[in-house]
Amino acid sequence: DTSETVNAENPNCSTELPEGYLQRVEHGKETAGKRQKRKSDARNPLERYHMKYLCVTDLCAQGWCEQQMVYSIELPGFLQPERVALMDRGASIHLARELEVHDIVSVCTKTREDSWAVKFLNLLTTISVLQAGGPVRECPVFGEIDGIFLVGVIDELHYTPKGELELSELKTRGRPSLPTNAQKRNHHLQVKVYKHMFDAMVRGQMNLDNLISHLRLRPEQPLGAHIKEHAEKAGLTVNCFGDLLELTCLSLTFSDLPNIDRLTLEYHYQKDNTLIGTETVHFGNIEEELQDYMAFWKGWRETKGVDIEEAWKCRSCNYLDICEWRKTMGTVINHTKRTKQ
Ligand code: SF4
Repeated sequence: DTSETVNAENPNCSTELPEGYLQRVEHGKETAGKRQKRKSDARNPLERYHMKYLCVTDLCAQGWCEQQMVYSIELPGFLQPERVALMDRGASIHLARELEVHDIVSVCTKTREDSWAVKFLNLLTTISVLQAGGPVRECPVFGEIDGIFLVGVIDELHYTPKGELELSELKTRGRPSLPTNAQKRNHHLQVKVYKHMFDAMVRGQMNLDNLISHLRLRPEQPLGAHIKEHAEKAGLTVNCFGDLLELTCLSLTFSDLPNIDRLTLEYHYQKDNTLIGTETVHFGNIEEELQDYMAFWKGWRETKGVDIEEAWKCRSCNYLDICEWRKTMGTVINHTKRTKQ
């Protein structure tokens, strides 16, 4: 995933000010006022930022630095051009891989339900390819963890020669070396959440009422002509969005697809797409691991920045000059130094 790639490169990024920085700092100052307002705001972050659901990559960004993730929502457009270039190169490698196993067809969407229908049609295709024993790329996953709706896209699923279902996540790197442990932690979290969501889906635990109420979609909404045409080509007869949802749920429940057996990370060098290394990830109780993350989204606690031991992350952070957490941390560091003297 390219957003992690950018994080993965964080320690190496230049801290030179990007063009337009002064203007952006002014914008940042404004948000200090907004922050005061936020403290007296009774809404939780999901409500405050008008987010109906989280992407799994949001959790990864939160795992790197929650404060940085919040700034990236409040101050979009802060990304340095060299990071945008890294993301573009990563996206090209992902796209080339995807095209190895299937074609990409453009579908015209008119409503929010149409846009979500595309994801469910892709999921239905994925189910039938996996049932036939084939590999799939860009597999959509949906699910609820601790009352919060999550959406993600698994890079690749395939069967190993032993018949195990393996999830393989591609990470592209700007340098030909493996990431640091802090970066790996995020990648591990990402694939563990994907496994949790996929396994729940194939066990028939995707709850349609929850999905509709979280995403505020209208099941009775007729599907657009283009979507219907595409569904018919895939042998499906669907009229409204609810038809497609029910069909997806039934297909998942009766698919007999197994849980994911293995989680693998593949690190590639962006410049020439050579393999740097692979890593197997062990699966644990992800709900327990995510409790503190979810406490933030539910508004049970304030935003946190990095711990003092991980203050090195701040050196390459776009928000270093405006970061309130960093200022507080500086006070703590100075206080600790004085106490030791
Ligand atoms: Fe997080 Fe440090 Fe950036 Fe603040 S300066 S947002 S604490 S990484």
